[in-house]
Amino acid sequence: MSNDPIPIARPLLGEEEAAAAREAILSGWVTQGPRVQAFEQAFAGRFGAPDAIAVSSCTTALHLVLHALGIHAGDEVIVPSMSFIATANCVVHAGATPVFAEVEPRYFTLDAADVARRITPCTRALIVVHQVGNPADLAPLQELATRHRLHLIEDAACAIGTEYRGRPIGSHGSIACFSFHPRKIITTGDGGMITCHDHDLAIRLRGLRQHAMSVSDLARHRSSRVSIEVYPEVGFNYRMTDIQGAVGLQQLLRLPHLLARRRELAERYARAIAAMPVLARELGPHAEPPWGRATFQSYCVHLLRPERDREALMQALLDRGIHTRRGIMTSHREAAYCAPDRPTVSLPVSEQASDRTLLLPIFPQLSDGDQDRVIAALAEALAS
Ligand SMILES: *Cc1c(COP(=O)(O)O)cnc(C)c1O
Repeated sequence: MSNDPIPIARPLLGEEEAAAAREAILSGWVTQGPRVQAFEQAFAGRFGAPDAIAVSSCTTALHLVLHALGIHAGDEVIVPSMSFIATANCVVHAGATPVFAEVEPRYFTLDAADVARRITPCTRALIVVHQVGNPADLAPLQELATRHRLHLIEDAACAIGTEYRGRPIGSHGSIACFSFHPRKIITTGDGGMITCHDHDLAIRLRGLRQHAMSVSDLARHRSSRVSIEVYPEVGFNYRMTDIQGAVGLQQLLRLPHLLARRRELAERYARAIAAMPVLARELGPHAEPPWGRATFQSYCVHLLRPERDREALMQALLDRGIHTRRGIMTSHREAAYCAPDRPTVSLPVSEQASDRTLLLPIFPQLSDGDQDRVIAALAEALAS
């Protein structure tokens, strides 16, 4: 058994991705082109959406969607505070105001009852996060969105392969934004994807990601007729490169294995916690919502004893070569969102959920032996 440090996460990339990237590079076409298009089609097919639009990240995906929906200054968008800060930032990028709502304490997904209390005449949209790949309970949120005429946008950064009521995220009728950052389920280095069930909106998103150009580079390249493009509005450069598209296609082929191995590791953690009294007393296992299937993008344990010092525990684990991370952050307590001129927000459920959770190493190549080292180090650190 090795004594090498165990990282919190590691993407699974191999010869197939390297060969695909090489082929794209040597083809002479490296920006958004045929491989991005093929990746979009494969992604849309896999996740049950009529359209998929590739972009440079999940953050730019969310911003592009808010912009395309016409959300602007004076509008409010309800988001969970307990999320990666990009969920709130994209609202600010659009010029609107993020309104923070509470999450469900076991699964860290938006609490519909709390969302309902925060709807005002200025509310235009909800961003529902499938946090750490746990499906949010979409039905009551969709019902609220319909009743109040709000757009429902899914932040599915961690949810490539998440299922809600038996169907994948991407197939539920709303707009979903996915991430290909190396910490997520599949990676293209960086990158994002929007799935969409409104074809006119999809066409608009496709234009806006490339300067709102009326004819794409690829279409002009393939055309035997001269075509002059026009720019009907101000757009963005949020393109994915064809090198990334080529890598993404290979990653999609690996998806069944990636999801199966993550689930296996999650089940091994849960069994170890249940079986070892020192762990069972201190840790609550990652909880999977009853309404769907999680991806286990992170393995998030709950610290059950209030007196347990989380940072000391993380340090004790790091001293044994085991990398962990604090639970998912809250945005409303970061300087970016709690400037003196902003109203103070109190979100006790989110604060508790964020402060009393810990992320353990989980990634498809983590061997059973190395996971056992994590478990043994936890038992040792918690025994003291
Ligand atoms: C990672 C993450 C993002 C940002 O994704 P990028 O592709 O890095 O922009 C947004 N939201 C959530 C919930 C995330 O976990």
